[in-house]
Amino acid sequence: MDTKAFRRSLQQSESYHRKGFGHQEEVANVMQSAYQSSLIQELRANNYMMKRGHVTIKMAQSFGFCWGVERAVAMAYETRQHFPTENIWITNEIIHNPSVNQHLKNMNVEFIPVENGIKDFSVVNSGDVVILPAFGASVQEMQTLNEKGCKIVDTTCPWVSKVWNTVEKHKKRDYTSIIHGKYNHEETVATSSFADKYLIVLNYQQAEYVANYILNGGNREEFLAKFKKAYSQGFDPDQDLIQIGIANQTTMLKTETEQIGKLFERTMMKKYGPDQLNQHFQSFNTICDATQERQDAMIGILDEPLDLMVVIGGFNSSNTTHLQEMAIEKDIPSYHIDCAERILPDNRIEHKPLGKSLEIQDNWLPDGEVLVGITSGASTPDKVVEEVIQRIFAQQFSTVQA
Ligand code: SF4
Repeated sequence: MDTKAFRRSLQQSESYHRKGFGHQEEVANVMQSAYQSSLIQELRANNYMMKRGHVTIKMAQSFGFCWGVERAVAMAYETRQHFPTENIWITNEIIHNPSVNQHLKNMNVEFIPVENGIKDFSVVNSGDVVILPAFGASVQEMQTLNEKGCKIVDTTCPWVSKVWNTVEKHKKRDYTSIIHGKYNHEETVATSSFADKYLIVLNYQQAEYVANYILNGGNREEFLAKFKKAYSQGFDPDQDLIQIGIANQTTMLKTETEQIGKLFERTMMKKYGPDQLNQHFQSFNTICDATQERQDAMIGILDEPLDLMVVIGGFNSSNTTHLQEMAIEKDIPSYHIDCAERILPDNRIEHKPLGKSLEIQDNWLPDGEVLVGITSGASTPDKVVEEVIQRIFAQQFSTVQA
């Protein structure tokens, strides 16, 4: 399928919208009262620090809503205003934040139901409005919706579209796209749908395995079993790793994406020689600015003498999880929570350790002077961060409510 031509024709269709509907001002007011926080403004003005009792909060200098998310949420609100009576659907959580998604549900914006991991588009009828979330939708989903005669409101972040364009360039040159990402993350599912041949690597270790296979060969069956579900149909590691291009999920760890890019560049140079490199390797930087800024700010805050770190964001939010990883690497006790209600009475916190299920930690806030670092993922509204800070301050006086 010519995915590029399909996207172009979809974008020219009258039932496709990727700009707002002219209700920006009303929506800005609603968003301000729903998501913004005066406490966070105060914190920003106070060099990202605030002290109450024996607890000092130090915020990362870049955190929370990125413009791509803000834009997507605003467009969803505008869509409701513009289509007050139509059925409105979203193909997925618009962003990975429970409170934002709840707000949308309260406005009668429905999520496409999922059964056994498969979306049931039979609920959508001709004339319904369907919003594509900030991390995009697969080309097959767009095709289905287009064929059904839906109105499509596309909030895909331009940074994500940039990765799709990169993958299209690989395809044009018959390169295999090596995508640094999570094979079941919606953004990577969407990105891979634009590729012809692709292989998804989760981390540097997996990339090393692939690089080693390129240089020295190996057990083909083992390779295919290891990357099950993470490659295109018919992918053959012996045939499809001769020309490769790098792409990524925009919210992966920036340093890791860069290391993976360099690893494959070295690998192809070693295998084919420097003068043949361009015939075998392509790489473009597709980490989004917001992800970079939040990770850079995390490096900054982790240099402070923190006693602990609280990372706020949806548990399925990739960029939030990476912020958590950075704290772990620095051996700083860190707590990933998605909302203030995770901070429980009697100095307890319900949090999600990396790669594990939720657990409750007793006595999480130490006695005496404490410096608490805080950051939040790109899909977390300031209001949620404010509620968390208020609860932390309240915790020390044991006044927190269940
Ligand atoms: S994190 Fe980056 S790619 Fe994702 S929505 Fe925000 S700006 Fe766009």
